Parts: sequence; structure tokens; C-alpha cells
Amino acid sequence: MSIKHHIIPIFVPHIGCPHDCIFCNQRKIAQSKANIDDESIRNTIDSYLSTIPITNEKLEIAFFGGSFTGIDLDSQRKLLEIAYHYKKIGLIDRIRLSTRPDYIDNIRLDLLKKYDVDIIELGVQSMCSDVLQNSYRGHTDIDVINASKLIKEYGFTLGLQMMVGLPGSNYEKEIFTAKQLINLKPSIVRIYPTLVIKETYLEKKYSIGDYVPLTLDESVDICIDLLMLFNYNNINVIRIGLQPTDNIAENKDIVAGPFHPAFRQLVEGQIYREYLKMFFESNQKIGNTIQISINQKEISNLVGQSSSNLKYLKEKHGVDRVKIDGKDISKKSFFIVNNEINIEMKIKELIKRYLTKKGLVTMD
Ligand code: SF4
Repeated sequence: MSIKHHIIPIFVPHIGCPHDCIFCNQRKIAQSKANIDDESIRNTIDSYLSTIPITNEKLEIAFFGGSFTGIDLDSQRKLLEIAYHYKKIGLIDRIRLSTRPDYIDNIRLDLLKKYDVDIIELGVQSMCSDVLQNSYRGHTDIDVINASKLIKEYGFTLGLQMMVGLPGSNYEKEIFTAKQLINLKPSIVRIYPTLVIKETYLEKKYSIGDYVPLTLDESVDICIDLLMLFNYNNINVIRIGLQPTDNIAENKDIVAGPFHPAFRQLVEGQIYREYLKMFFESNQKIGNTIQISINQKEISNLVGQSSSNLKYLKEKHGVDRVKIDGKDISKKSFFIVNNEINIEMKIKELIKRYLTKKGLVTMD
């Protein structure tokens, strides 16, 4: 059983980042010297700790925003000392931070090691030079490869983040990026469809018709293939789609693009649709009632957004009664009972079949 993690987020807003990525709206307040208010950071951590119920969940301090290792070393040290104190006295289990690939070197990693940081996430966004240039990222694919290798050599957990739908990208380039990331053997990945956010260069390009964002359907379709590829390679995708916040919402800072508050569920629901399609490819004679036994946490994905998968079963295959039996079983399989025959649907095999059909992996 996987252990849940409770995250205590500490925002380091845009300190340490002199860059102007096309999709980022924070460049106006860039500064490299952090103005760290130790007391308010400690207060934030203490107040989280006082409200988190004592369970066997792991607790984690995560530095979000900006590029952590781009901050001057003294300020990094100050921030790390705070987090390390809580780890040393056993109140938290892990320290996580995110940064840019070109801000990783021995000096910075020595410091992070000294303060017992656990997870380093790199904003990669793309492994295609033209897409990186179009997005004004200011780093190369080689920076990503070197930084990832060094992070792993130091024994940190490596996380990689990619975006889909950046200017000049396309389906082939997203798949290429995912395969390059897989080669770097990260433990975790995040996938973000590109959104047009207010006060960004991308907004300007969008307003003059120079950038067309992906539609929701297009981005879901791409993310299905990416998630299948990462899952097939046993890489844990911990997020798909930006987390909705007060400002990340329609009619707020999002001008255009494939935003959905439950983006991941759309993707996972469509993946179950693909699994059901595969079931009908090999099982033609189906009555109008089936029973499905599945891990209880997967039920909403099986059913799909607005029960779309149940509607699919009815409209396409005449199944008008689906009895879903949520159980405490592994997520590695689900079972379809049809005419008294219990058919095991092994997720790994289904993923392989899907990716093979799409030409994304080859049959051994
Ligand atoms: S590197 Fe990160 S923080 Fe800096 S401009 Fe780009 S997206 Fe924004």
C-alpha cells in the first residue's frame, strides 16, 4: 500500500530567476537576493504541523515557485536550515524543491546534500531545442541530461516536469521528450498542458494570432499516450495539469488553453475507455449486464467523467447494466465477469497492447 504524503508548501516567489519563459507571469518581480522572513516561514510550518492529524502519513516541506538553486547561496542556506531543523527533530520526513536544469552543479548539490534534501525536481518542459528556444527557456536539452545525471549521482530523488503544447511543439515532439525523460530514469514526473496566462509573452502572441493553444481534447489525447508511456516504464506521474488555485481558474488568470479542474481524471477516465475497448475487441459475445470488480479508488476512473464510460458501454455495446464491485484489491488488474466467465484485465498488458498498436513500443 502506498503511503500518503502531506505537503507543507513554502513559496519562494520567483526569487532566483532572471529568466523570461514565455508562459511564466512572474518575471516582473524577479530578484536574485531572497528576502527571507524566517519567522513567518517557521510560523507557516508550525501552523501546518498543528493541524495535520497524527497518522502514518509522511510529512514533507516543499519549496515551490521560482528556481530554488538560483537564489544566492546564503539565502538558500537560510531556507534550508529552517527545513532541516524540522527534519532533524523528526517532525517532517522529507525536503523537496524545484529548480532549473542549468542551476545544478557540485557546489549547489553539496549544499543541498548537507541539509539532507530528498527530492529535486527539474523544470525541463521540452527536450527539443527549437521548442526550448521558442519558449525562451534559456537552457538546452544537454543541461537537462547533465543535471539529471548529477542529481542521481548524489543520491537525490529525481523529478522531471514537462509541458505539452508549447510554441512549435507537436505530438511527435511531446513523445520524443517523454522518451528522453524516461531514459534519464526519474522517480517522478509531472505533466503540464500549456495555458495562456495573463501578463505573459504567450498572451501577447496569442492575442495577435501567433500562438494557438491545444484544445482540451487534444491535450487529453496527448497526455493519455504520455501517461501510458511513463506507467509502462514504472515512472510515477504525480501530477497532470496545473492545480486549480484562486487565480488558476477560468475567468481569472487563464486567458486560454486546455484548463480543466480535474484534468487528470479526464485522462485516467479515457484510459479506462481504451481498456474497455480492448475487452470488446477480444470478447464479442456480451450480454446486456456485466459485473466489474476493481480497486475502489479506481471506480471514478472506470466510470469516467459524467459517467461517460458507462454511456459508451450502453451506446456502443448495448450493455445497459454495469454492476461495479469496489474492492480492496491491487490496482494492477480489474476483473470483468461476463456470462459467468471471470476475465482478468491486467493493466500492464493492456498498456503494452495500447502502446504497441500506436507504434510507441515494439513487441518483444
Ligand atoms: S525558469 Fe521558472 S520561474 Fe523562471 S521564468 Fe521560467 S518558468 Fe518562470
